[in-house]
Amino acid sequence: MKTMTCKQMGGPCDAPIHGNTAEEMMNNGAKHLQEAAAKGDEAHKKVMTMMEEMQKNPESDSNKQWNEKFKKDFAALSEGLCRGLIFWKKVG
Ligand SMILES: [Zn+2]
Repeated sequence: MKTMTCKQMGGPCDAPIHGNTAEEMMNNGAKHLQEAAAKGDEAHKKVMTMMEEMQKNPESDSNKQWNEKFKKDFAALSEGLCRGLIFWKKVG
């Protein structure tokens, strides 16, 4: 299990996102964005809209760049790093 913050994934807060694989992390990050947006958080809503736009064009440069960076960041993470990363400003 690895952990990234919402911010590391391009989001606006420091909530920790967990995942065993890059795909799982991405899904959990998207879920976190949706949950925060559903609560009326404008910053998360904006990022969610951006990601939805990106997904409509999976071949676009910005989407490819984001994916590459994300996978590189994910690969660079070490297991258990989460302990040092948890700031718990808010979750969800
Ligand atoms: Zn967040």
